Amino acid sequence: MTFSFNKSRPPYPYLSAEIEGSFAYRTVKDRMPVILTKVIDFLCRSKNEIVQSSHSEAAALEDLKLIIGKLSKLRSEMQTNKTLSKFEIDCPHLQDSEKWNTELIETKDSAAPCWFNSPWLLVECYMYRAIYYMFNDSLYLKGFDPFSHMKEEAFFVQKNIICQLASYTNGLCLKSNYSSSELHVHFMKLIEICLWGNRNDLSLSAGNTNTEVKSNSFFDDIKQLNSHILVNNINEVWLHMEHIQNNPYDNKELSIIMDNSGLEMVADLCLAVYCISHKLFDRVNFYVKKIPWFVSDTTCNDLKWALQYMENDCTELQHFAEKCRAYLHSNQFQVLEESYFTLPLPYHVMQEEDPKLYKKLCRSQLIIFKGDLNYRKLGGELCWPSSTPFKTFLQGFSPAPLLALRTIKAEIICDLPSSKIKELDLLDKDWMTNGNYGLIQFAK
Ligand SMILES: [Mg+2]
Repeated sequence: MTFSFNKSRPPYPYLSAEIEGSFAYRTVKDRMPVILTKVIDFLCRSKNEIVQSSHSEAAALEDLKLIIGKLSKLRSEMQTNKTLSKFEIDCPHLQDSEKWNTELIETKDSAAPCWFNSPWLLVECYMYRAIYYMFNDSLYLKGFDPFSHMKEEAFFVQKNIICQLASYTNGLCLKSNYSSSELHVHFMKLIEICLWGNRNDLSLSAGNTNTEVKSNSFFDDIKQLNSHILVNNINEVWLHMEHIQNNPYDNKELSIIMDNSGLEMVADLCLAVYCISHKLFDRVNFYVKKIPWFVSDTTCNDLKWALQYMENDCTELQHFAEKCRAYLHSNQFQVLEESYFTLPLPYHVMQEEDPKLYKKLCRSQLIIFKGDLNYRKLGGELCWPSSTPFKTFLQGFSPAPLLALRTIKAEIICDLPSSKIKELDLLDKDWMTNGNYGLIQFAK
């Protein structure tokens, strides 16, 4: 199957579950069915609590039973490599059904996509879109997030680290006149925090919150992990930051294309609070997901929930949340939703597919792309040779200077010589999927 936007042949094959033993194969074969099973189990176990808030409990219960049936059907279709079915009804919030149905699922020039034979990006995104569709198609459970309980649980598990980050950031905001070298040191540290915050991913652990970082000091962990940053362009990023400070921009904007909620989201907020309070930027745009996505991805509701939770907790968290709230009120923080981020489209076609979003991103002086899914989309999810330069990997996508922060959890990489790959393979055979290695890659 080829994406319809790929009028020319892609330079390399797509990652796909077709290749037995690959991480994409293991994801479609094992991780994705486990995620569906966990959602089904949760809905069965908690049905009474779920329908309680509805106007009509009996009718909501019927809805829930139907959804459970549809989820089981989806799981069995996945496991038996059936074709992806169309979305019969559009959802006003996304308005993307036509795109899915006519361009992604039903293409004129190739057979309908199947779970194991199509690009991994397409089928993995499809699963989350299909789950959303099931709830949206119901009468009483529209907009229900079947992952929110896992995200909240993960937040509690990570609370100790979240407090450390909040308190660290509060401390950085006490002083207003840092020298340039002090600003540099703290900025670098926050970028590292943002990078390693990305290790916590519930879609990788198939919703299991027990695998989170448990150390008492996240800062000690980071010190040790920094030798695992395989490409580190942080100095180029700071040079660019100096360039921004030395130029009279009317409005200095940072955009963060977010990944996971919980610890990672708080880490992103820490960087943003620091940047605004020390006037490194005038505004930070947080791009969140419009619908529940890849288990732990940040939605608007996750952000609201976390702020509310922190406002009612210890003084450090309260203080941090109040700062975020104040920046939200003054529009120095903006939370934005865009449908493009829940489509299985790579970024190099954004300018053509969603010129409005592309233009909006062009206004930023720096865009940070967090995590694996964004990285897969930056590289068009192709099997690039590892030594491919980052610029080539981006295939012309360049709305603004961009920084990819990612702990490695998928078999796609660039900027690494093949000798380094051989060395890593000997050292740790799972280095490409266990999230223990990171990348800080910058392109201007
Ligand atoms: Mg994620």
